[in-house]
Amino acid sequence: MSDLESRYVDLHRNPELSFEEHRTAGIGADALRAAGCEVTTGIGRTGVAGVLRNGAGPTVLLRADMDALPVREETGLSYASTRVATNSQGIEVPVAHACGHDMHVTWLLGAAESLAARRDSWSGTILFVLQPAEEAGGGARAMVEDGLFDRFGTPDVALGQHLAPMPAGHVLTRSGLAMSASDTLHVRLFGRGGHGSRPEATVDPVVLAASTVLRLQTVVSREIGATDAAVVTVGAMNAGAKENVIPDEAELQLSIRSFAEPVREKVNEAVRRIVRAESTASAAPREPEITATASYPPTVNDEAATEALTARFREEFGPDQVRDGPLITGSEDFGEFGRAAGVPSVFWFVGGIDPARFAADGTLAPGPDVPSNHSAQFAPTLHPTIDTGVRTLVTAALSYLSN
Ligand SMILES: [Zn+2]
Ligand SMILES: [Zn+2]
Repeated sequence: MSDLESRYVDLHRNPELSFEEHRTAGIGADALRAAGCEVTTGIGRTGVAGVLRNGAGPTVLLRADMDALPVREETGLSYASTRVATNSQGIEVPVAHACGHDMHVTWLLGAAESLAARRDSWSGTILFVLQPAEEAGGGARAMVEDGLFDRFGTPDVALGQHLAPMPAGHVLTRSGLAMSASDTLHVRLFGRGGHGSRPEATVDPVVLAASTVLRLQTVVSREIGATDAAVVTVGAMNAGAKENVIPDEAELQLSIRSFAEPVREKVNEAVRRIVRAESTASAAPREPEITATASYPPTVNDEAATEALTARFREEFGPDQVRDGPLITGSEDFGEFGRAAGVPSVFWFVGGIDPARFAADGTLAPGPDVPSNHSAQFAPTLHPTIDTGVRTLVTAALSYLSN
């Protein structure tokens, strides 16, 4: 365990942004090679695959994501990140593992070492996947499109896990739909600028943007049934620089969440229709530009596989430590692997916060001071978190590979 702790601390101190995970990938590749895997790097830019062959039997894919976030860490830990990096827009930003992907890598490498050391107790093949750019939304697809399954074989099941702001030592599973689909859009609305005193000679993109934002609120309230769920958030709205200048254009950035494919299609179509129609209503000189910048499928856990795994986790950790997880409006690109391979997948959560910070009534309700993922204060307690996440992966893999 001390080896895994020092590996975690090293990864935590040295976070890397999406698709920049060169150092992390190198450490992962070395550790997988040392565990006896055939290792290939540079898949989908910075992804790593390690294949551990051990006779006849099924193939199990185990996945960890590697990237960190542009967040300035404020945990006060002795091993807090002080790293800065240049983002894809050329801007220098602080970087921290505020989502816990450093823990995910630590768990995966710990599981590889543990499974390699007990080859006599299982047979089959394990495909270890270190994925880039989960936060940017393109990492899983980049690996699949770079031939992950053509080159290393199609697995029989895809398994993954995430660190959660839940008590350390607890595991949360959920059968069926578990996390939302996410679509993000950048929109450029075109007007015709001019003097603020003569709006009649312009097409004002500020009014066009304001009208568009308000009309977009009707997508969920007027077009989606009350028993379905979706979210449309305009998180950024930028136009203009001075009170007496009507600018030429305005920009919107949208986040769309949904749980069912028909709802997802309907919301995305309605958003596009409204953006185009509001431009027409304003007599815009050009059609708006609508760019999809990221897209995650919903996370759907295979029901039979989830029930079987949950039973194994209850045997391993005890029934009180393994709970039913809630439906989450957050999103993940893990679902790409099972979808592309056409096989069942299961994604579960492992708690990482000191249990003393939770209500004593057993409801797992976090206190108000428990920071969640993406917070500058998010800091998992290392024990038993490291051990729990290694054991979940090993238990899950062995449930397919040992007789
Ligand atoms: Zn995250
Ligand atoms: Zn994450």
